[in-house]
Amino acid sequence: MAFINHSYRFSSRDFLLKMPKIAAILGEMQVETQEPQKLASQSSTSRSLLLNASYEPMKVVSWQKALILWFQDKVEIIEYHNLHVRSVRASFQLPSVIKLKAYVRPRGYGAVRFCRENVYIRDNFTCQYCGDRLPAKLLTLDHVVPVSKQGPKSWTNVVAACRDCNQRKGNRTPLTANMPLLTEPVIPSWLPSPDFDMRSNHLPKSWLQYLQFKAG
Ligand SMILES: [Zn+2]
Repeated sequence: MAFINHSYRFSSRDFLLKMPKIAAILGEMQVETQEPQKLASQSSTSRSLLLNASYEPMKVVSWQKALILWFQDKVEIIEYHNLHVRSVRASFQLPSVIKLKAYVRPRGYGAVRFCRENVYIRDNFTCQYCGDRLPAKLLTLDHVVPVSKQGPKSWTNVVAACRDCNQRKGNRTPLTANMPLLTEPVIPSWLPSPDFDMRSNHLPKSWLQYLQFKAG
């Protein structure tokens, strides 16, 4: 085959569209990388972050799904992984960030699950008191109005905080502690995939600029 050993950077859609069963072909493909240890865990290193047409992050999809969406002309590829998949016929650089061409109202809109990881994502892994951006393992959840003062465990009363700030604030409100919040906590409008790898130090760098929380 003439295509062997050619690396396609998604410029050869015509060739691919001639393939009868894209999904089956993708199933044959093997991921290859210069850094095999990166694939050791089923982490996000070979997956793609799917953005809405408005650039809001929607979910994480497998590279196979990302390629199928691209074959279907539903997405644009914005960023690439430093990874290739190879079949007998061709190799492709894997997409890291893809964006829908048409806006889709996200499923679960206005009903994002309240949990530690989603709070960190909403707050962009940033302490809401001192502004330090930290990996998830160095962050804590802070009750803005403390539990002891009947502060609820809810989107609008819980923020990401570094350990120092959390300890310093203690059982006080931001007002009495003189520690104003950087941003008012709100209920997020988009829903990250439940399989999202929240450990920010494991997320591909190319994703981070797209994971800024956007209030709806
Ligand atoms: Zn802090």
